[in-house]
Amino acid sequence: MHPFALERPRDLSAALALGAQAGRNDAVAEYIAGGTDMVQLLQEYVRRPDRLVSLAGLLDDAIDVGPQGLRLGAAATMAKVAVHQDVVGQFPLISQALLNSASPQVRNVATMGGNVLQRTRCPYFRDVGYEACNKRAPSSGCAAMDGENRWHAVLGTSDSCIAVHPSDLAVALVALDAEVEISGAGGTRTVPLADLHRLPGATPHLETVLEPGEVIAAITVPAGAAGLRSHYLKVRDRASFEFAVVSAAVALDVADGRIRQARVALGGVATKPWRIPNVEQALSGMSLDSGEFRSAAALAADGAQSRGHNEFKIELMQRAIVRAVETAGARA
Ligand SMILES: Cc1cc2nc3c(=O)[nH]c(=O)nc-3n(C[C@H](O)[C@H](O)[C@H](O)COP(=O)(O)OP(=O)(O)OC[C@H]3O[C@@H](n4cnc5c(N)ncnc54)[C@H](O)[C@@H]3O)c2cc1C
Ligand code: SF4
Repeated sequence: MHPFALERPRDLSAALALGAQAGRNDAVAEYIAGGTDMVQLLQEYVRRPDRLVSLAGLLDDAIDVGPQGLRLGAAATMAKVAVHQDVVGQFPLISQALLNSASPQVRNVATMGGNVLQRTRCPYFRDVGYEACNKRAPSSGCAAMDGENRWHAVLGTSDSCIAVHPSDLAVALVALDAEVEISGAGGTRTVPLADLHRLPGATPHLETVLEPGEVIAAITVPAGAAGLRSHYLKVRDRASFEFAVVSAAVALDVADGRIRQARVALGGVATKPWRIPNVEQALSGMSLDSGEFRSAAALAADGAQSRGHNEFKIELMQRAIVRAVETAGARA
């Protein structure tokens, strides 16, 4: 592990000032929250900050539901959010995505902010023995392009990077039109979660729109997302403690057996949480027993590009959408 100074600032403004200095390796400042991802990256020399700024005790961990919708403090743990009565009752998609993530031990300490900012599980990114990784070392190449790319993305890719965004929670949140409250030394701002992560393009090391030193303070979900019929389907190589090969988050507004509005997002197949408006539009107006979901799901493959080992994901993601829509539609 590269030696670093652990800073424990007394308040958030001190943390923001320190974070702005510490964010020199890439666009995301070197903060640590629950540490479940960051410590692994430190141990493997993937991250080598001189300073690590602890956010412990500095950010809100409240979970509130009001007329505006749901607000999750960035420090709220995955475990607490997953079983919170109002989340389970009104925003079950979030609870399902969380309970399908990681393990109870990880969920007990991992936070909302850290979850949506966790780094890719691309094995070449996480093993510094491989020199070619544009995300870890800009302009070094990409070992995954012609390497083992079964886990990699087929949507939102570029010639520089095909790494999958790993968060299940972010996929559910993007389907529910969530927003992120961001705090920095210059003040606060709000961005849609769908715009938080960047496409890799030619600069895959720039993963989010956060400026150096900025933190996620909270995540909000509008009230309109409450009470929809929803389902989070996660296909993975083993039943627990495993990331998605493909996942589908679906939330439906249903009236008289017909879909009025659909929200659909994919995980495990794209470089960022992937909302699919063309599929949503095609689903709108369909009867729940029409048996036509497959034609709508096929539109998810528009623009999909495989690199060999991950070809199967293009078919699997369409099947996952169909199953998730059927399951969501069957809920009371
Ligand atoms: C074995 C294992 C299995 C897992 N399986 C899954 C899975 O199936 N699905 C899934 O979604 N996840 C999975 N995870 C990932 C896990 O959910 C994340 O590690 C966790 O959510 C990160 O939260 P944290 O608070 O520990 O973040 P940290 O590790 O502390 O930080 C992660 C990143 O976020 C930044 N950061 C943290 N908080 C903030 C903030 N408020 N503002 C700005 N930057 C911040 C840090 O600088 C760092 O870059 C797994 C992890 C492990 C170890
Ligand atoms: S896919 Fe992205 S993260 Fe993985 S080796 Fe290529 S550049 Fe690095």
